[in-house]
Amino acid sequence: MPTVQAYAAPDATSPLGPLALERRDPGPHDVAIDIAFCGICHSDLHQVRNEWGGSRYPMVPGHEIVGTVRAVGAHVTRFKPGDRVGVGCMVDSCRTCPSCAKGLEQFCQQGAAFTYNSTEMDRVTPTYGGYSSRIVVTESFVLRIPDRLDLAGAAPLLCAGITTYSPLRHWKVRAGDKVGVVGLGGLGHMAVKLAAALGAEVTLLSSSASKEADARRLGASAFGHTRDEATFKRFGGRFSLILDTVSAPHDYNKYLGMLQVDGAMVLLGVPPEPTPVAAFPLIGGRRSLGGSLIGGIAETQEMLDFCGQHGIVSDIEVLPVQQVNEAYERMLKSDVRYRFVLDMGTL
Ligand code: NAP
Ligand code: ZN
Ligand code: ZN
Repeated sequence: MPTVQAYAAPDATSPLGPLALERRDPGPHDVAIDIAFCGICHSDLHQVRNEWGGSRYPMVPGHEIVGTVRAVGAHVTRFKPGDRVGVGCMVDSCRTCPSCAKGLEQFCQQGAAFTYNSTEMDRVTPTYGGYSSRIVVTESFVLRIPDRLDLAGAAPLLCAGITTYSPLRHWKVRAGDKVGVVGLGGLGHMAVKLAAALGAEVTLLSSSASKEADARRLGASAFGHTRDEATFKRFGGRFSLILDTVSAPHDYNKYLGMLQVDGAMVLLGVPPEPTPVAAFPLIGGRRSLGGSLIGGIAETQEMLDFCGQHGIVSDIEVLPVQQVNEAYERMLKSDVRYRFVLDMGTL
């Protein structure tokens, strides 16, 4: 079992630091990957700090992984050494339940094997994520990165990209549809780019007035400052779909009033505390409040290919892995334009 270098959280309150980690030798269906870059998702911070409960330590976060294939097992057919590949939030699932059969591995009824803070499907072997120099993943959960895309910029597509693409597709966004995106962080800026690429008319709803110019550059045609109550009147009844990417508790009821009749607001952000929802804004307009979790493996490849066709990558700031603790603090202050990506060459 090769020893690889990683960065890990020892517990919920200490900073992340170096850790040597054993990865399995590639089995017949495995792909061994040299990790080049790994994005920092706000879910990394929630889990490192045990904000959702049940965190396992030491934790090596990271589920926006890109790199090149180092070696493949004897039965691997789709990849060869040197290929540019990615790994997202899952490394395996049962592959037989109704969800898996439909390509919705994220809803595997036995519980998918998530990339970190989880176990392999044996339910014993802990999984460790992408803040590390190498990873070994079964072929079916390895994605192909289109040649045209910058590798570091493509890393955030593996979580922020698929998490925003999947609901845009599921709620069937078409050219001309009016889509609202709440929060301009890692997820939010991908939501703006992807919705605009699908032809939607995008409005960015942000608590930071300073982000208006960026929102427009990324593809939004309108902007609303959510600390200004007038925004909620101005956009009342406007959107067929709202994607809410905010990581902290906020009042959903106000946003529901901005939906059209039959419109849907979809929660993507996962604030640690619950927020009460009133019936009135839902029944007055037959509106729905829903949620969405990442996306399945086939849909993740579809999203990557879509990004390849449209030349879409994330706007990133590349950092050495030693700056991860600082990056977490900046992310908490919404001081990220718009995704931090760790350069694993610095490990
Ligand atoms: P991020 O880059 O930190 O962006 C979050 C944005 O939320 C901030 O940029 C900010 O945007 C807004 N925000 C933060 N605090 C706020 C507050 N107190 N009030 C109002 N707005 C606030 O985080 P991310 O990586 O995009 O992740 C966002 C959330 O999605 C996290 O909770 C994460 O765990 C979750 N997530 C879910 C999935 C899924 O499958 N559903 C996948 C990945 C991540 P403005 O400055 O524009 O207001
Ligand atoms: Zn994520
Ligand atoms: Zn399953």
